[in-house]
Amino acid sequence: MIAIPEPQARKSLVEIMRRMHASGLNRGTSGNASLRVEGGMIVTPTGVPPEDLAPEAMVFVDESGAPATGGAKPSSEFRMHHHILARRPDAGAIVHCHSRYATILACCGRPIKPIHYMVLVARAPGVAVAPYATFGTAELAESVVATMGTGSACLMANHGQVTIGATWQQALAIAEEVEEQAAITYGALMLGGGNRLSAAQLGASAAQFRSYGQREKE
Ligand SMILES: [Zn+2]
Repeated sequence: MIAIPEPQARKSLVEIMRRMHASGLNRGTSGNASLRVEGGMIVTPTGVPPEDLAPEAMVFVDESGAPATGGAKPSSEFRMHHHILARRPDAGAIVHCHSRYATILACCGRPIKPIHYMVLVARAPGVAVAPYATFGTAELAESVVATMGTGSACLMANHGQVTIGATWQQALAIAEEVEEQAAITYGALMLGGGNRLSAAQLGASAAQFRSYGQREKE
């Protein structure tokens, strides 16, 4: 299990939110992120714009899912973050955002199908849509974990996307790729849906990724 020191997690969360804002993955205060630390996780606070975020504003949530009191309130999605980290020991970081194309597909119940080999970055031959549940609820947390399976990403119906990684750099890179794949899927749907890669073609790409080095190494 990958846990990083708490001060490092707090600083990294500021960096993640700034990068999500700079890349356009996130707008305003809608996205959130968490990192596993010893004894629990650190999650971004609710309703703080990226330019005002500081390491001290990040919120510790213990292993039972209880947020620390006395400081800022945690993100409304802290239950989802806690639930994913509890169920996925391979995850050290979680990124959630309402990036435009991922959210368009999620609002239409359209998964990302394997029409481009880079979808494999999500460690599955596609990105499924988790059934709708109200934001911030345990039901949404369950829906996301069940839909993600052993992969690293899922879309959330009428909501957005969520990704995991061993490190925050991985989780963020996957979120960026999911958004790119969502944009490609959106465009392909306009032209009739795109040509699906076969299982053999996907298998060959997955093997190529493994020998490629960086992406599959952890
Ligand atoms: Zn959200």
